[in-house]
Amino acid sequence: MRKKLVAGNWKMNLLDEEVINYIVNFNSRKNEIESDAEIIILPASIYLDTMISMPDWDIKIGAQNCSQFNNGAYTGEISAAMLRDFDYDSENLHYCLVGHSERRAYFKESNEVLAQKVNRLIENQLKPIFCCGEELEHRKKEKHFDLVKSQISEGLFHLKEEEIKQVVIAYEPVWAIGTGETATSNQAQEMHAFIRTILAEQFNQDVADSISILYGGSCNSTNAKELFEQPDIDGGLIGGASLEVESFIQIINAF
Ligand code: PEP
Repeated sequence: MRKKLVAGNWKMNLLDEEVINYIVNFNSRKNEIESDAEIIILPASIYLDTMISMPDWDIKIGAQNCSQFNNGAYTGEISAAMLRDFDYDSENLHYCLVGHSERRAYFKESNEVLAQKVNRLIENQLKPIFCCGEELEHRKKEKHFDLVKSQISEGLFHLKEEEIKQVVIAYEPVWAIGTGETATSNQAQEMHAFIRTILAEQFNQDVADSISILYGGSCNSTNAKELFEQPDIDGGLIGGASLEVESFIQIINAF
């Protein structure tokens, strides 16, 4: 059985007081959650401590980024070892995004760099949520499968079987992120099934069947149910709609 996951990517939003209010509000409504999906929130790194320190907070937490280097003269960066060290005892911090399209586009992160980040996370017992997805021009030219295949093969295919099983993949078509234009459930399912096929070809069917593949891109309380009903969609990576407790709980309950 694959794990179902709903992860909220807060990006560079919410200040400390808003983070606290969100958690208090979320905790007070936990009895409304009817789904058995694992819930993850990915705040800005500076607020990981606020989240980890909140009482009664048993939701999993993740970072949005880490360095590809272990340590050294890399001003402004946070290493995977630091993330691990930070929450060594409470064990709430399990995940880290790798290769979100905003990082690929604005910070020019290549597949080679992303492969190194994946390695650093796995070495430090953190689970990478590896993002992939095509831009509109690739889809118009029917190059979207090739593009996603190259992102996944260059970012993940160097891993050993036990390592790839630690990875969650998030398919996020760039044209759907933050645009209000969601992929149809057919388009998303088609790509998720394709990703599972290439995982089976490179590793084996057991690996392909065990990896959770999330959909991301304008997923909201209206379209989540239909997306999550698809056989190869194991949950969602939610941006804008995770910033409000109400809509995030509705999406979680879409399972
Ligand atoms: C994201 O940034 O990962 C994302 C899916 O954003 P949104 O839900 O706002 O499209």
